[in-house]
Amino acid sequence: MGKTGRKGLSRQKERVVVPKPSGEEGELALEKAKARELRQSEWWKRQLAKGVCHYCGGAFPARELTMDHVVPLSRGGRTARGNVVPCCKECNTRKKHLLPMEWEEWLAGRG
Ligand SMILES: [Zn+2]
Repeated sequence: MGKTGRKGLSRQKERVVVPKPSGEEGELALEKAKARELRQSEWWKRQLAKGVCHYCGGAFPARELTMDHVVPLSRGGRTARGNVVPCCKECNTRKKHLLPMEWEEWLAGRG
């Protein structure tokens, strides 16, 4: 019998983000501290000075823009220039209330 033990149903793709068993809160606190620091930076002030919401493209005064993590910290995002964008209050609220998938659909609809 030439049958080997190779099964058709091998590995499933796993895209689940496994939370770390420990130190998670510490990391979150660290990222939040980094966000506070980044808010003080010249780079961030320049982002605000542009006065444009990253998501809806609307024009807003700097004081109405907030710092938003594109990939939220709760989903493993980091406080880094590539992951923080200026966001208007409306988009911020919308993003909070939608599921990640719904939010992505909304964004795609804007494009
Ligand atoms: Zn917006």
